Amino acid sequence: METALWHPFSDMAVVRDSEFVLERGEDVWVYDTDGNRYLDAAASLWYVNVGHGRTEIADAAAEQMRKLAGYSIFADFTNEPARALAARLAELAPLPDAKVFFTGGGGEAVDSAVKIARRYHAAQGEPSRVHVISRENSYHGTNGIGTGVAGIEANRTGFGEILPSSSRVPFDSVDALRAEILRVGPENVAAFLFEPVIGAGGLLPPPEGYVRGVIDVCHEYGVLAIADAVICGFGRLGTWFAVERWDAEPDLITFAKGVTSGYLPLGGVVAHGRVAEPFWSRPGNTLRHGSTYAGHPAACAAGLVNIDLLERERLIERGQALEGTLAGALNPLASHELVADVRAGLGLLGAVELTPDVLECLPSAVTDLHLLVRQHGVVTRTLGKAVAVSPPLTIEPEQIHQIGAALAAGLDELALKL
Ligand code: PLP
Repeated sequence: METALWHPFSDMAVVRDSEFVLERGEDVWVYDTDGNRYLDAAASLWYVNVGHGRTEIADAAAEQMRKLAGYSIFADFTNEPARALAARLAELAPLPDAKVFFTGGGGEAVDSAVKIARRYHAAQGEPSRVHVISRENSYHGTNGIGTGVAGIEANRTGFGEILPSSSRVPFDSVDALRAEILRVGPENVAAFLFEPVIGAGGLLPPPEGYVRGVIDVCHEYGVLAIADAVICGFGRLGTWFAVERWDAEPDLITFAKGVTSGYLPLGGVVAHGRVAEPFWSRPGNTLRHGSTYAGHPAACAAGLVNIDLLERERLIERGQALEGTLAGALNPLASHELVADVRAGLGLLGAVELTPDVLECLPSAVTDLHLLVRQHGVVTRTLGKAVAVSPPLTIEPEQIHQIGAALAAGLDELALKL
């Protein structure tokens, strides 16, 4: 039966006849409707950090739904799970006197962070600071602002101009950020938005000194630094909010995905106490922004248990402890004739990029490789010129080697198609 489901970011002319329907999951494994088992090397969309099938999370969410399914947290309303999760995140965050603003997901978190930054400057008497700078190749979701600042050009084009007061800088240069702030005029710049490791744009780790460097430049010019940790948080890099890897202190941090390991949708922004201060101390200075499901009690209850699991099973540390194993499994692929580059070694994130020749000769090569690897029982993710992996943090070293072996087999089979 033809599907009525319009898949995001998908070529429906192709996908309409070839859906891959998953039915259940257990730890690092997922099963399709024919009962075939796959190693979920993508953790769905970079988010099932504690693995699939955690009944503790499902039970907590169900219990909360039976008690109080939902209620908005606008004005003075709130609920216990939202208060408790905010307190827990504020304590874990590497920002002093942190405050937590909840959203329904990562894209909403990005738009919220930028709006907070603009309103912060206005409250500080600098309403001209509206310009937002982002990095080429970056991905910040598909809401209005996230689309407007997108560093992946294809995601920005075709929609008309969404955010005129924005610009992009090369992703690997601190000096380029400084030059752009000076070009636009510091008095006009609200924020610099950056992913600590660029994810969807190709899995690009920051150059040495980059994260601390860009935050220092921002602070030199009164610009707020927003770290988008939607992918990199909750253990993906071996830390809670990614930036601890560089001992860095941005002004705002966005999060989503790993906060609930995707068991229910939830995202948010952690704000440095200094940024929250004008809103928290001045009556009448209301942030007129927020969504219906912010602080949804069932999602927050799921988040609380997810954080317990990450702590109790020391999964955050595993994101770093296993990075060398992942690099060891993927690096040998660099010598394959079809491979231009292998990027691995920072957290449980890895990418295998194909050569320009392969991509030119076979435009579908990345998707083909992803499908060939799936036939070897491993689910990966396509990323432009590369296939990426970001497995659950519960993965065992031998399973990481299984990912490497499936990729190697897929590459050999791809070579036969050329
Ligand atoms: N920011 C980053 C860095 C992301 O990778 C994503 C999603 O992958 C988002 C924002 C958007 O999150 P969501 O898809 O939950 O809106």
